[in-house]
Amino acid sequence: MAAVIVSGSRKGVQMVEKRRKSSVQLHFPREVLLVEIERRCVFPDCAFRNRLSLTKAEAIGYRGFRCGKCDRWNDDAVAREDLPSSWKLDLIPPSETSM
Ligand SMILES: [Zn+2]
Repeated sequence: MAAVIVSGSRKGVQMVEKRRKSSVQLHFPREVLLVEIERRCVFPDCAFRNRLSLTKAEAIGYRGFRCGKCDRWNDDAVAREDLPSSWKLDLIPPSETSM
């Protein structure tokens, strides 16, 4: 019931950290949730620089964008190089590594 708080107690910290010397390091790969690409409007009279944010799902199905200035449709595609390396793995079918 009584919580003992000792000021400047180093013992408590050491006890916790010494419990396991060879602990398993948990790995949390940083998943990129959104990629930002920059696309110029293809129409010469506009050439507006559009900033597009794509989620992974959007990037896979990406076929173009609507210009933020002239509101005309631009046919476009994203190259794999435009996408984060962590996404590329998912786009490549795992046929080579299968048994
Ligand atoms: Zn435009």
